[in-house]
Amino acid sequence: MTEHFTEYEHCTLCPRNCGVNRYEKVGFCGESASLSIDSFLLHFGEEPPITHRHGSGTVFFNGCSLRCPYCQNMQISQQPVRPNVYTMEDFVSGLERLIEQGAENLNFVTPDHYLPHIIEAVKVLRKNGVDIPTVYNCSGYDTLDNLKAAAEVIDIFLFDYKYADRECAAYCGTPNYPDVVTKGLDFILKKKGNLKLNDDGKAISGTIVRHLVLPTFTENSVEVLNNLYFDYGNDITLSIMAQYDPKYLKPGLDRLNRRLTFAEYEEVVSLADNLGFHNAYIQDLPAEQDEYTPDFTEKSNFGKF
Ligand code: SF4
Repeated sequence: MTEHFTEYEHCTLCPRNCGVNRYEKVGFCGESASLSIDSFLLHFGEEPPITHRHGSGTVFFNGCSLRCPYCQNMQISQQPVRPNVYTMEDFVSGLERLIEQGAENLNFVTPDHYLPHIIEAVKVLRKNGVDIPTVYNCSGYDTLDNLKAAAEVIDIFLFDYKYADRECAAYCGTPNYPDVVTKGLDFILKKKGNLKLNDDGKAISGTIVRHLVLPTFTENSVEVLNNLYFDYGNDITLSIMAQYDPKYLKPGLDRLNRRLTFAEYEEVVSLADNLGFHNAYIQDLPAEQDEYTPDFTEKSNFGKF
């Protein structure tokens, strides 16, 4: 199996476009060319057709090229590089273990900065006769080149559309996100199409567009939904998420320093309903909101309308 990837020698795998040699130093994503993985686990908190019966076989990569200031996985995405380094052989073995445990799919979380490793691993599995669906679970801050390469080996895209509003994108530290995400999403929706399920209700291919509603920024969510509606109609599969948590919020971002209110989430969900989106996963926002912090192993609380 290949252990050396030329893509890391002058890295342009994400829109940060650092151009660094990751065999010598880390880029903005915080990762070198060594494959650094936080964990492999069966995840029961994804949308129902992704979790399905036995859980999504999820790989949490360390590092991130987007680095949202409120990331709920901050300890994975933005901490100094940790020494969980995997060879290709160990990576493939980890994926095989997930399959043995009953994983419904292989779900690569924050995958863009390790895409060469992922492509290689999936090709090895396919060559060995493994036909489990693969999932690219991304921030939406991806280059077209990366998405084109990913689309060759990935079946399902969980594609974030975080910010359409420029003020919101800038407040969250990535002013050019709205321009980047629309190009990538357009490519993926045309290439992979809408989410497709098998007769058992399990996702086998296509796209879920995910949007996390942020406190005090409902105008951003309104713009996201309007853009999606006008560009793609109301048949696309949406996931409107309510799980924002300021637990790890970086200092000085007062607008984001609380959880979402029921009224804010309702406003966004009602708009989706009024626009006629009929394939939308939504989350319960319980009254005891202070306790609402899904962890990696929590059962999915997604409903649908
Ligand atoms: S993947 Fe990392 S090193 Fe490569 S361009 Fe993006 S931030 Fe820079």
